[in-house]
Parts: sequence; structure tokens; C-alpha cells
Amino acid sequence: MTQFPELLSDRYRRFKYRHFIPHAEQYEELAAYGQAPDVMIVSCCDSRVDPETIFSAMPGELFVMRNVANLIPPFETGGTYHGVSAAIEFAVLNLRVKHLVIMGHSGCGGVKAALDREAARETEGQFITKWMSMLESARLRVLASHQGAARKDMITALEREGIKTSLKNLRTFPFLQELEAKGRIGLHGAYFDIATGQLSALNETTGEFYAL
Ligand SMILES: [Zn+2]
Repeated sequence: MTQFPELLSDRYRRFKYRHFIPHAEQYEELAAYGQAPDVMIVSCCDSRVDPETIFSAMPGELFVMRNVANLIPPFETGGTYHGVSAAIEFAVLNLRVKHLVIMGHSGCGGVKAALDREAARETEGQFITKWMSMLESARLRVLASHQGAARKDMITALEREGIKTSLKNLRTFPFLQELEAKGRIGLHGAYFDIATGQLSALNETTGEFYAL
């Protein structure tokens, strides 16, 4: 039998004694009455950008979906498996979250791979390249508007364009169009800078991010 990693079992025991037991009543209530989070966060898989940590959240407060580069594919039906769409549908139609936040971040490996497509093909294998091709038109916009710019500025620009692309794709979901028009849900973009800990929010009118 493969041994369960000790690193994890030690951490789990720490969680149980320091966190779970002091909040046992809250967990019991969550188990009995179910979850009712007001907010869904879409974040990157990157281990440095954990939404629950960044928003000081307790269990039951945030409905979180993480994927490579926090991307939302456009609405589509068909015979394949739509994991992202299923999570959005559940959060919006069943849990009725009031806010949906796409949170991007600095130093995103997926975005770097998207910017340099050749490198992505060589190193990232068959799935990342196809997944990141969702950012192709954002990539072309950034290349056109950042001619001669430093690579790190282009990466930041594409990380931010990626958030806007995901918001645009969210609005291709008919139920989100309807709920947003009725003012029943707020769609938001945010950007976390890992080195400084600064979280910024997107002003969709100006297209700029402002520090929170
Ligand atoms: Zn990332």
C-alpha cells in the first residue's frame, strides 16, 4: 500500500485541533443546513493564490473553482464534459450566489505559456496549449499594443486581458445575461500581485484595475 504523505497527515491533524475543534459548532450547522455562499471565486490552480486565504474566508463562505489561469470558456453545449460550466451553473442557479469574481494573478505560468505559444507546445503537453488558446485574441491584442515593451509587462497585460476575456465569456451564458440584466448578480474582475499582496479590482468602464 502506498503510504499517505506524512506532510499532509501532520497538517491535517493541525487543522483538526487548531481549527476544526474550535469551530465545531459552525461545521455542524453547515453539515445540517448545507452551504449558502454569497460569492463564487474563479481562481488559478497556482498554489500561491488561494482565495480562502486572500479573503479570510471561513468554510461555507466562498464557492471556489480553480483552473489553469482562471479561465471561463464561452458557453457551449454538446457531448463533452463541461466542468467549468457545471460549477458556474450550480453556483448561479442552485446556490444563487450574488457575486462572481474572476481573480487573476501575477506570475501566472499558464499566461506565460499562452504568450509564448511555441514554448508551450514543447513543454506543456497536449492539454495546456489547447486550454490557453482561449486567450489567443487577447494575446494578439497585447502583442499589438505592447510592441517593444518588456516581457514582464506583456505578461502582466495578458494576465489582465485574460480576466476581461473570462468576464466576456461569462456573459455568453444565457442565464448570467438574464440575471445580470435584472441586477441579481454582480460579475467582477480582480488581480492579485503575489510579491506585494496587493489585490486590485477591475473597473469595467475604464478597463483599468484599482487597488483595494
Ligand atoms: Zn496562474
